[in-house]
This record gives sequence, structure tokens and C-alpha cells, in this order.
Amino acid sequence: MSGQGIYPELTSPNFKALLDTCIHCGLCMQACPTFAVFGTEMDSPRGRIRLMKAASEGRFGIEEFNNSFAKHINLCLSCLACQSACPSNVKYSQMIEIVKLTIAHHHKPGIFERFVRWLGFRQMMPYVGRLRFVARFLWLYEAIGLQKLVRLLGFLPKPLKAMEAILPPIVPKYRNYSKPAPAIGEKRGVVAFFIGCIQEAFLAQVNEATIRVLQRNGYEVHFPKGQTCCGAAHLHFGDDEFAKNLARKNIDAFENYDVIINNAGGCGATLKTEYVSLFEDDPIYLEKAKKFSDKVKDISEFLIDNLHVLPKGEVKAKVTYSDSCHLRHVQKVIDQPRALLSSIPGLEFVEIKSPDRCCGSAGVYNIIYSDIANQILDMKMAEIADTSAEMIVTSNTGCQMQLWNGVNRAKIKAKVVHLVELLDMSYRAMDGKESGR
Ligand code: SF4
Ligand code: SF4
Repeated sequence: MSGQGIYPELTSPNFKALLDTCIHCGLCMQACPTFAVFGTEMDSPRGRIRLMKAASEGRFGIEEFNNSFAKHINLCLSCLACQSACPSNVKYSQMIEIVKLTIAHHHKPGIFERFVRWLGFRQMMPYVGRLRFVARFLWLYEAIGLQKLVRLLGFLPKPLKAMEAILPPIVPKYRNYSKPAPAIGEKRGVVAFFIGCIQEAFLAQVNEATIRVLQRNGYEVHFPKGQTCCGAAHLHFGDDEFAKNLARKNIDAFENYDVIINNAGGCGATLKTEYVSLFEDDPIYLEKAKKFSDKVKDISEFLIDNLHVLPKGEVKAKVTYSDSCHLRHVQKVIDQPRALLSSIPGLEFVEIKSPDRCCGSAGVYNIIYSDIANQILDMKMAEIADTSAEMIVTSNTGCQMQLWNGVNRAKIKAKVVHLVELLDMSYRAMDGKESGR
């Protein structure tokens, strides 16, 4: 096989032009978590770009493409730390997305994989009520001590074990979203809140804290009906049509709002950057998607400009912050969470050595490639342990769940919290509702 390439997506002039921007300098290598684990060129960004180039030049047969090429590509977390480190402005995100989607579109899953995807992506994620039902059941599993026994016996099959390991402590208190949450004090505006899917079911307390912090700053918080999962997982597994259906629902649900707040770095990145490219062939939704994406704000991005009430309640704790890759490398929201943390009296903030390094969560990477994800996580936890932080702060659903797994693996005594939970603690301490811890 030479020159022709197997798949036209990989031989297009646009794709080749993207590849040609890499000058193979290797300055991205040290930022790459899979290079840190394997130490091999083919599992580094530069190596993967070379592999993509070989594919674009038709240097792989179908067998090689589906096996070794796909393996090295799929082991990439798409964390984009390499893109931030690159001095040559290489658009790694675009390249890896094109290649991963090509692989996904030509991958023929077996019956079991098809069933799992149908169940998880189509029957669960778009339905927050079903997810809450599962979360309530898992809360019981944690509350009666079954979790401890299951972990002690360790008999679960690998994918289930990986899913079980990332269960956070569940607080199944769910808000009735039928009415807006009123502003507290002087009303400064109205914002719409994106509640998410896994976020709402498994980390409902983070959504509650987000809403309270917005209320405390004078915002009336609306919860548009018809909103659903952002579709990130569907998109990344090549289920574009289903992802489009979800995107249309969200775009329509939020149409009448000027500001759309979300608190999960991964969802926010999809809402901000992927909806527009999804509708390139649909002029009506393309325009709507552009308007929608322009209105999406991460909570820390919004608060840094709209913190009308300073959090003055003391929260005495030593904390560190672990960036969500999609918040840092895609949305470029880096300083805002740190500035908000430093506004809380009593907090001692310690930066970890590589806050920009992925924790190994990466969507469902930590379930599919749990061994590798755990090695990446253990490196992160070693850096966290060096800070002796009592709280690990993050801003993304997947990271928060993965870091709970990290705390258990590293056997350190630390809580994993979302940034808004700390702000909420400070406001509550200010109001005398509880102490700052
Ligand atoms: S991606 Fe950027 S940093 Fe990495 S090898 Fe290519 S040009 Fe150098
Ligand atoms: S996206 Fe992340 S895992 Fe993939 S090559 Fe870049 S740094 Fe490595």
C-alpha cells in the first residue's frame, strides 16, 4: 500500500497541512503523560504526529492501521498538554480528533461493546433521572459498607472494578429544577445553568454549591427544561448523529438566555468548541450553535468578573489545585480558579509541581485503559502528597471522580472538592451557617 492511504479523511490536503506544521522539535514530549509512562516515541505527541503522517501517506495496510496505529493513537488521552507546550502552534487537537474519529467510524464493535455503548451512551447519559436512580442505589452500596467489602475482596471484573474505583462519596440530595433559584440580596441578573448528567447524579452537591454561590452574588439561576447531556462521549466514540441530537436539544433549551454557566471543564469544552463544528453542514443550527457557544462560561470564568460579594468567611485548610485539561488547555481558564481560591480567607494554597499534567481521567479512558490511567494518576498523587494538602481542588466531574480514586490509591487523608464548594463554604461561614471546614 503506498501513496493512496486507506481512508480519504487522512489524505485530505487540510489534514496534511495540519501535520506539516510540526517541526519535530520534541519540546512537547515532557508534557505528555503517556510518554512519561511508556518512554517510547510512538506514545509521545511527536511520535503520534509521525504516525499520522505515515497514515496520510498511505504507508499502512489495513491490518497495521487497525492494530498498532490505532493502539498508539487511542492511548493518547487527548489532554492537549502537548498543544499548550508547542512553540510551533501545532493544532494537535484537530489532528487527533480527525484521526480518532476515522478510527472510531471504521471500528466494528462486537455485540457486547455495542450493548454497553447503547446502554451507557443512549439509555443512561441523556436521562438524568435514570442516572440519579443508579446513583441512589450506589449511595446505598457505599452507606451500608458493601463498598468496603467489595474492595477488600477485589473480585469485580476489570472494567467494573475501574468504574467502581472512581465512585465519589455520593450525596443523593437532588434539587427540583422546576423553579428558578432566586437571587440573594440585590438582583444583578439572570443566568442559565447547565446541570450536566454524571455531574448531577454523582456530584449533586457541586451543582448545589454552584447555584448557591451564584445566588449569593445576586444572580437568579434558571434551569432550562429540555437540556441534556453535552454529548462529549458520543462525539468521541464517533456517534455524531446522536451527539447532534443532544446538541440541538441544548441549543434550543438555552436559546433565550445570555449567559450559560457550567461547572465541568470537559462539558464546557464541548459546549464551547465542538457544537459549532458539529453543524458545519446545517446553516440553521450552525448560526444557533455559534450564538450558543459564545454564551457558555465556566463558573470560575464568570465569577472572576462578577464576584459582587467577596467570600469573607474563613476556611482554614491547606489546598492544592489540579487543573482540568479541558479547562486549562482547551478553554484556557487557568488563572481564574487560582485567583478565586486566593480570595478565600484562611486558605493556604500550594501549587503542585505539574498542575497542568492530566490525572488520567480523560472521559472513559480510566475505564478502558485503567492500568495506564492509574499509573498516570499515581504520578499526580505523588506530587499532591508532596504538598500535604488537606483538600484537592478541581473543576471537572471526571477529574473529581478520578482524584477520589487517587486519594484511595495513595492512602492519603485529603478531600477532593470542586472550587465552588470552597467558595460556598466561605459564604456559609460568613453567614454563620457552619464553620469554615
Ligand atoms: S508538536 Fe510542536 S512541540 Fe511537539 S514536536 Fe511538533 S512542533 Fe515540536
Ligand atoms: S494529547 Fe496528551 S496524551 Fe495525547 S499526545 Fe498530547 S500530551 Fe500526550
